[in-house]
Amino acid sequence: MQIIMYLTKVFYKVGDIPIFNPLYIHAYIIHQWLLIFRSQPLPVNQKSAIIFSPHQDDETLGCGGLIALKREMGVPIKVIFLTDGQKSHTATPWIQPPENLIQVRKQEATTALHILGLEVSDIHFFNLTDSTLSHLTSEQYENTIKSIVELIRTFKPGEIYVPHRKDNHPDHECTYQFIKTAIEQLQLSLEVELLQYPIWIFWLSPLFFQLKLQYLSGAYRLPINSILEKKKQAISVYQSQYPILPPRFIKSFLEKKYEIFFKATL
Ligand SMILES: [Zn+2]
Repeated sequence: MQIIMYLTKVFYKVGDIPIFNPLYIHAYIIHQWLLIFRSQPLPVNQKSAIIFSPHQDDETLGCGGLIALKREMGVPIKVIFLTDGQKSHTATPWIQPPENLIQVRKQEATTALHILGLEVSDIHFFNLTDSTLSHLTSEQYENTIKSIVELIRTFKPGEIYVPHRKDNHPDHECTYQFIKTAIEQLQLSLEVELLQYPIWIFWLSPLFFQLKLQYLSGAYRLPINSILEKKKQAISVYQSQYPILPPRFIKSFLEKKYEIFFKATL
């Protein structure tokens, strides 16, 4: 077991050096290219928002700056977690015992979001099992869509944030599809804006030329420098995820002075 732990550490250390990690270079170049050439400024506005997050950490990594900026202006925000995150350490059970992982991740999410300005009552957990969103039973699927419809109907957000539709993670892409379906059922297309936040798309997309430009259209950049320290604090709460995520991946979110969002057409 100790050898596996040692090799894991070596793997992460080597992967943390940009020259040995083409994914890091790939993600960095696309991010910079979007910032400089392909995005418009996104002013913070007073529109209420729901952030749908497949796992406990996506909301803070992708929208932590947006949440903090809106909350500083007193804008109502809800964060909905689709899954309970119980499978994040399937390959590394010695780091975090599975029996208390759900509780640990919920606590981390609540603490991180409190730093960003949310109360417990603003946070909801759907408690689906992670890695199962693409093959829910029809009953689970219908209940999930129903719950999303109900939340949107009750809260009436001006904006909805979801992971990018091509985020290269089944749970992330399903989250987008679930929310799109719910919005279509509600026929809210004229009143609500749907914005996609990128988490894995630039990291796990095979190569530049396979990333179709249409997936990167409608990009907006939100400057978050003024609350970057708050976002860093919130990310650092997710200690259960640090040993299993590539260090450079986390670091890139700690350093980014802009969050990028893609407006989806409804
Ligand atoms: Zn995720």
